[in-house]
Amino acid sequence: MAQARSKNARTSINKQKFFCSCGGEIQVKQLSQSGKKKIIAECGNCKRVERRPSDFN
Ligand SMILES: [Zn+2]
Repeated sequence: MAQARSKNARTSINKQKFFCSCGGEIQVKQLSQSGKKKIIAECGNCKRVERRPSDFN
């Protein structure tokens, strides 16, 4: 059990969180547009939309 727990801790580091300049958390969304998949990043607070989460920095 202790081994599984340490594995989980390691994977959680890979999940990076991004925050908007307003302090809101960035949510990455996947949209389907005419058969193509499009990924956008949206602030959950001010609804600002950018192409990538890193564009909020
Ligand atoms: Zn924002």
